[in-house]
Amino acid sequence: MSEDETLFERIIAGEIPADVVYQDDTTFAFRDIRPQAKVHVLVVPKKRYRNLGELAAGDPQLLADVALTARKVAELEGVLESGYRVVFNTDSDAGQTVFHVHAHVLGGEPLGLFGA
Ligand code: IMP
Repeated sequence: MSEDETLFERIIAGEIPADVVYQDDTTFAFRDIRPQAKVHVLVVPKKRYRNLGELAAGDPQLLADVALTARKVAELEGVLESGYRVVFNTDSDAGQTVFHVHAHVLGGEPLGLFGA
């Protein structure tokens, strides 16, 4: 892996296996390896930005694509009606571990309140 390459770029490239839920020209969605809810899918833009703020500033249309893919994932996973949560962790206090922006799409059961 090059210094700049992230785990998610390797997953998008097919170099690391993943349980792919959906992909299109600009986004890629796959199951989280350590699910925190019955439905836990990660949505990433194929082009790398470090976090939500950089994505929003750098390519607002791509951020919209990520949001629409999150909704598509919810539809495919059968949780569009019951509801789902979309989370973007940013930097260390939030627990971001992979510095290629990703939306966690969570659902399939009642979710707890936010907090530590
Ligand atoms: P973060 O903590 O918000 O950066 O989220 C990174 C997520 O990636 C975590 O929920 C991990 O469980 C998940 N993850 C790490 N490695 C893999 C993998 O190889 N496949 C799928 N998900 C992964």
